[in-house]
Amino acid sequence: MQTREKKKINTYHVAQQRIKRAVEQSGLTMDVYEWLKAPDRLVEASIPVEMDNGRIQVFTAYRAQHNNVLGPYKGGIRFHPEVDADEVKALSIWMTFKCAVAHVPFGGGKGAICCNPRQLSVNELERLSREYIQHMALVLGPEKDILAPDVNTNAQIMAWMADEYCRIKQHNDFGVITGKPLEMGGCVGRETATARGVVYTVIEAAKVKEIPLPGARVAVQGYGNVGYFSALFLEQKGCKVVAVSDSGGGAYNPNGINCRDLLLHKKLTGSVKGFPGTDNLDNLEVYAVDCDIIVPAALENQITAEVAKGINARVIAEGANGPTTPQADEILKEKDVLVVPDILANCGGVIVSYFEWVQNNYRYYWTEKEIESRLELKMTEAFDHIYNYKCSCEDNTTMREAAFLYALRRLADAMKVRGWYK
Ligand code: NAD
Repeated sequence: MQTREKKKINTYHVAQQRIKRAVEQSGLTMDVYEWLKAPDRLVEASIPVEMDNGRIQVFTAYRAQHNNVLGPYKGGIRFHPEVDADEVKALSIWMTFKCAVAHVPFGGGKGAICCNPRQLSVNELERLSREYIQHMALVLGPEKDILAPDVNTNAQIMAWMADEYCRIKQHNDFGVITGKPLEMGGCVGRETATARGVVYTVIEAAKVKEIPLPGARVAVQGYGNVGYFSALFLEQKGCKVVAVSDSGGGAYNPNGINCRDLLLHKKLTGSVKGFPGTDNLDNLEVYAVDCDIIVPAALENQITAEVAKGINARVIAEGANGPTTPQADEILKEKDVLVVPDILANCGGVIVSYFEWVQNNYRYYWTEKEIESRLELKMTEAFDHIYNYKCSCEDNTTMREAAFLYALRRLADAMKVRGWYK
């Protein structure tokens, strides 16, 4: 049942439907939908890479540039064997709306390479990353389109990519990529920014639902960058992390799991599964455990209608992009679960990316304390904007609908004033 629902879902069509509905609800002209329904540009490239055995392997790669009315296109690049053009287009749409919600002067973009990074050596990964930039350099730039890490990419990959771009340009132009290592203009706190942002929205949502954080039970799907740090920071706020899963399976202990020790176990064994003192779970069973707060931090379309029916939590903060299907959304609405949508919950990453870009452009760097307090301020403001907007709408408007409507209004106003529609 779950597999069938997941297979049916085309995330690009879901994103388009959400925009159409928001345009209709706002009473805006359909010209706005015409502008936003598809990316301005999709670049698809076949990237030949010399493998360690001397043979050539060709990888399919994408860059989708959705809309730049508020600023240059901006968005991560993921390496995944199942990624396709529609997924990248959908993710670029979400970035446009996310940047509008976060009040950062960027549009939306997303990139991907269809590959399994686990099967590549470090040298092959480096060659693949550099070749991607060789193929995409014309459409990238600090004022055009700015990359960042996403699923299966990290600061080292950003460093190779930024270095390749600087070689092509023949000068250092670090603002083309964020999420870089500190040694080449990275921003302190970028690695943990998305998770910190997720946690700021959990704090606000818990206030709305009157859930005291000390002792609150948390379940997390995905134990990578977003999942691990979200779990750790919530543990530091006194929450009890009771269930965690990753692509290899899950671990459950109603008395709480130590997040740092669990990470060590994952590093040693490749998965959170089998952590001493926990019961094994299937990776979707994390959603059905008794808990107060859930942080999805893996991939899209994980919370299907079936999964939603089993959810007991009162707050879901979407660390991942697009984890909830529209059918599941309806069920969660009926169950009165407060869902903090991805374009709000995980916008801490793009906010600190914005700080990195500003610092690169000014060549003046802030302290970690400054970054953290600016991030907290922007995240709390973003939550308040969307929550207040929700309260000003009809009674049963969800946070996701409110976030889409709010972002749409900002985009439509900017397009109108620029004369993109009458
Ligand atoms: P990551 O590669 O660091 O971690 C992904 C985790 O998900 C891994 O632990 C992996 O094992 C797990 N996973 C994969 N498939 C799974 C499955 N079927 N069930 C359970 N777990 C599974 O990636 P990340 O950067 O943490 O990104 C996670 C999500 O957050 C993605 O949706 C990404 O788009 C989104 N996101 C990331 C950032 C960022 O700054 N890294 C910013 C915004 C949004």
